[in-house]
Amino acid sequence: MKNLTLLYEGKAKKVYALPCEDQVLVSYKDDATAFNGLKKGTIHQKGIINNAISNHLFQLLEKHDIPTHFIKAESERETIVKKVDIIPLEVIIRNIAAGSFSKRYGIAEGTGLKQPTIEFSYKNDTLGDPLINSSIAVSLSLATSDEIAAVKEYSKKINSVLQTYLASIQIQLIDFKLEFGRFHNTIILADEISPDTCRLWDMTTGDHLDKDRFRRDLGNIEDAYHEVYRRMKL
Ligand code: UDP
Repeated sequence: MKNLTLLYEGKAKKVYALPCEDQVLVSYKDDATAFNGLKKGTIHQKGIINNAISNHLFQLLEKHDIPTHFIKAESERETIVKKVDIIPLEVIIRNIAAGSFSKRYGIAEGTGLKQPTIEFSYKNDTLGDPLINSSIAVSLSLATSDEIAAVKEYSKKINSVLQTYLASIQIQLIDFKLEFGRFHNTIILADEISPDTCRLWDMTTGDHLDKDRFRRDLGNIEDAYHEVYRRMKL
């Protein structure tokens, strides 16, 4: 779409205003960043792939009664979504230890967890997205306790839907990040779910099919994103 007002430019997406006040247009970029923006690069066609993957997963979640911001794909890179007021929490769900969790608790990457864990980070680039708990989030008025309860319940269900689906295409869901928003007094899933925001390991080889290939300079980034896209038959 052309001649729209840019509302916001993030690290991986641009958000434009639409004539309908309740909606915005999200445009996915090929830019990749890691370590709070310290590492920068581009991943060829990432925007196209992430747009398709995220839309596919949001539609799957809608079928399982998870309300999301998804309205409709506008083009290869663009999607029309509900305009939400983002709750400034990154919600991270883990099935297997990896990344910062492995470092923090001294647990080898790949160690299975007795039950999925949920953790929150305060979305604040200046502070480096510090870890936070629900009590502090409520005290700082980042969310109400009812909102936190809804976020926890949806996150648990999203994990089980995604785990089952990804297992059917031979992908193990290690961990992932979600963001929720307020829309007309309800809480809905927003942002994206893609190889940028999940750890996805090939079930047989253990190959990393996600942004860790960029973060850790593992090579073949484009191929990894394409492989996820291909398995989803998009
Ligand atoms: N994640 C994300 N955005 C962030 C931080 C984490 O999408 O700003 C995702 C990341 O891709 C992974 C999960 O959340 O799937 C857990 O990340 P972790 O806390 O282990 O952080 P990292 O090791 O990437 O710093």
